[in-house]
Amino acid sequence: MSQEKNQKQYDVLVIGGGIAGQESGLNLANSGYKVLIVEKDLSIGGKMIHLSKVFPTLDCAACITTPKVSECARNPNITILSNSEVLEIDKKGENEFDASIEKRPRYVIEDACTGCQECEEVCPIVVDDEYQWDLVGRKAVYIPFSIANPRVAAIDIENCILCGACEKVCSADAIDFTQEMEIVNITAKSVIVASGYNLFDPTQIERYGYGKFGNVITSMQMERQLVPTRPYNSVLRPKDGKMPDNIAYVLCTGSRDEVVGNPICSQVCCMYSTKQAQLIMGALPMADVTIYYLHIRAFGKGFEEFYQQAKGMGVEFVKGKIGRIAELENGNLKLRYEDIHEGVVKEAEHDLVVLSVGILANQLPRDLFKNNNLDLDKFSYVKQIDELSNPAKTSIDGVFVAGAASGPMDIPDSISSAGAASSETASYLRRSK
Ligand SMILES: Cc1cc2nc3c(=O)[nH]c(=O)nc-3n(C[C@H](O)[C@H](O)[C@H](O)COP(=O)(O)OP(=O)(O)OC[C@H]3O[C@@H](n4cnc5c(N)ncnc54)[C@H](O)[C@@H]3O)c2cc1C
Ligand code: SF4
Ligand code: SF4
Repeated sequence: MSQEKNQKQYDVLVIGGGIAGQESGLNLANSGYKVLIVEKDLSIGGKMIHLSKVFPTLDCAACITTPKVSECARNPNITILSNSEVLEIDKKGENEFDASIEKRPRYVIEDACTGCQECEEVCPIVVDDEYQWDLVGRKAVYIPFSIANPRVAAIDIENCILCGACEKVCSADAIDFTQEMEIVNITAKSVIVASGYNLFDPTQIERYGYGKFGNVITSMQMERQLVPTRPYNSVLRPKDGKMPDNIAYVLCTGSRDEVVGNPICSQVCCMYSTKQAQLIMGALPMADVTIYYLHIRAFGKGFEEFYQQAKGMGVEFVKGKIGRIAELENGNLKLRYEDIHEGVVKEAEHDLVVLSVGILANQLPRDLFKNNNLDLDKFSYVKQIDELSNPAKTSIDGVFVAGAASGPMDIPDSISSAGAASSETASYLRRSK
């Protein structure tokens, strides 16, 4: 590992380049502050860049997020380090945070790559594409997704067989197998934690059969099937490529469930499932969609109307607790559930099941802050220590929190939270000047 001592100074270090990190970074950059956004993924954009449309307006997610991503990339006050992670932050004093950041090699020279994808054509290795949530494959050298920023290839060195085909075809001479991990050291006057959330892993609920039954998918996999750049150009059952016509949603998969250790509501699953059901009705007009729920949480502005709109379109809402899912010979799924209204156990057959997976805290390394404790709440989200008056304030003076890093929330709330984080950061910077 080369220890490149590359000391640079910023006003704000933002950890995470999702919608909350971008929004808070842009607010501060537009007020003249120098911002560094560190994103662990190959592209900024967070989860939102992978979504189809957004509830309750059904606006196109990419149309909202892509201009913001480009604005971040072009803003002269913003530096982005993608494929990088903050290893340690040492608060030296008021307004002085030393951070060391690990910048992983892409094995592609960022400034040289034109994004032509010729390397992808010739690479012989195909592995699951994590950006399509494993629905299709990708090559060992790949551009993460079409609207990625930076739109630059990267080599997945673990799967690469070093055949050199990409190097030969690249007319920009951008492939560089000699790249090494770099440590970038910077100082910042303040920090915003915008590291977002993780999705619940549904293999933890074995009786739902995820990972075992090919036609049980997650809501993120359905989201990918509904985006304009979708992998199959239609909604299909992954197991046999058949067009489904009787789809079930299982709400609260991994939320409000003490057994899996996540007793809280994920806040977005009811509405994103209601959104997906409406989009499926547009994509597959003959399909039936049934949503099995415990309670529908339609608490936000326009949410109740959105829920009623789905019912009006023919989406069936069944108050039922799913006990078990079994696979039939034809790949269909039999759901055994308790009909909560009637108090009886029933069975229903569907040809595709979507698990509406919940949201979990994306835990930062325990010892990220040297000599300081970043307090977490009991669900491991970053603790807001003055939730009513200063919602972005954390247990470390000068460190603020934005978006789903402090708890499950939807995009409008993440944007408001990022607004609070940027204004509290700006007043901290002004105060300590
Ligand atoms: C299936 C599904 C559908 C949804 N649909 C909608 C919808 O229609 N409307 C709506 O309002 N909301 C929707 N949501 C919720 C939405 O995804 C969140 O509100 C939003 O993504 C929160 O943004 P964020 O920036 O806080 O977090 P994230 O989107 O999680 O972004 C966090 C970023 O930080 C990066 N990161 C994490 N840890 C580190 C680290 N240590 N160092 C550097 N970078 C790091 C991550 O790679 C990521 O890029 C949906 C969620 C799901 C699961
Ligand atoms: S690495 Fe070369 S071949 Fe691959 S996308 Fe970049 S410029 Fe094109
Ligand atoms: S060297 Fe690796 S990334 Fe390049 S074409 Fe061969 S297998 Fe693919």
